[in-house]
Amino acid sequence: MKLDERQQNKESTTELIPGPLSLVAEVTHRCPLHCVYCSNPLQMKSADSELSTEEWSRVFHEASALGVIHLHLTGGEPLLRPDLAKLVAAGREANLYVNMITSGLGLTAARMQELKDAGLEHIQLSLQDAEEERANEFAGARAHAHKLKLAALIRQQDIAFTVNVVVHRENLDRLEAILALAESLEPQRIEVAHVQYYGWALKNRGKLMPTPAQVERSLTLISQAQARLSGRIQLQAVFPDYYARYPKTCVGGWGRLMMLIDPAGQALPCHAATILPGLEFDSVRSHSVEWLWRHSTAFNRYRGHGWMKEPCSDCERKEIDLGGCRCQAFQLTGDAANADPACSLSDQHGRLVEIAQATPSHEAQWVYRILTNHS
Ligand code: SF4
Ligand code: SF4
Repeated sequence: MKLDERQQNKESTTELIPGPLSLVAEVTHRCPLHCVYCSNPLQMKSADSELSTEEWSRVFHEASALGVIHLHLTGGEPLLRPDLAKLVAAGREANLYVNMITSGLGLTAARMQELKDAGLEHIQLSLQDAEEERANEFAGARAHAHKLKLAALIRQQDIAFTVNVVVHRENLDRLEAILALAESLEPQRIEVAHVQYYGWALKNRGKLMPTPAQVERSLTLISQAQARLSGRIQLQAVFPDYYARYPKTCVGGWGRLMMLIDPAGQALPCHAATILPGLEFDSVRSHSVEWLWRHSTAFNRYRGHGWMKEPCSDCERKEIDLGGCRCQAFQLTGDAANADPACSLSDQHGRLVEIAQATPSHEAQWVYRILTNHS
């Protein structure tokens, strides 16, 4: 660490910026799947730019010292890192709760045992659909059958297990069957998330946007399933904010609860932040995690309320949703400091309603996530 950083860190101990609770470690952008709603940026990081085992280990220890509790190992597909068990062990040594978010491709019984022995505590496995052909279509790979076999492997271990399902117009009509399939895998938790329109999902928005009737029906089905599964499986759902009255508190608030480190070490306040113009993202290769959290201009740019304009600056909900999502505000209004147009109080809310109610483009071709234009 540079001397001026040490001084800043010392001074910063008196500042009232609590540390993050979660560290999202995108250990690689490589992935055998090509999901049409992937949240990875369009411009991904190449394999030769990825942080080494030692660099990640340093990051985990510094994050823990700053107050992080949860480490989410994700990607891309984290199993493509041959040193994944070492990364898990480094996270545990740093006293972090280690979760892996995976498509499951590359997970064998031997690998599962190795990860468990290294201290892995939680696995989140994604499902694309209940119908194999459609699931493989959305993933851009023949992955569905393999995932179903893996669930049994995961259950043999004493490890917490969540099934993640991403829903959209092309699979919402099968939500009952998808929930039944997820339930049959016997996880402790099921997370149903409507597509969020960033990255590759934004490119496919015309095909993915659900109809109002589908959203309405899914709310009913989810609450019925929550009642049925209560005490056995925890069912959580993220609903589409294009149909909401107020926006989501994106990532729990900019620079408030979460830090994301991309495969090459860039520290980001959220998955999509690199789309915002005028922001510079510093790297763990030249700064400590604490410096990045407290002093990086990117983390400070939209922290708190100082940056807000009307209607957010005068709004009684500004402590609740913190103005919604900066990336969505930029994508749909051209200014990241505007209120998220998912908010009905935004003067640009009509634009979002128009998009949500646009005629579905069933005939359009999928744009698959590919790792070609990496940096
Ligand atoms: S969403 Fe799909 S393509 Fe993107 S990282 Fe996850 S499994 Fe890979
Ligand atoms: S005006 Fe701003 S702070 Fe108020 S509800 Fe809308 S997005 Fe949230």
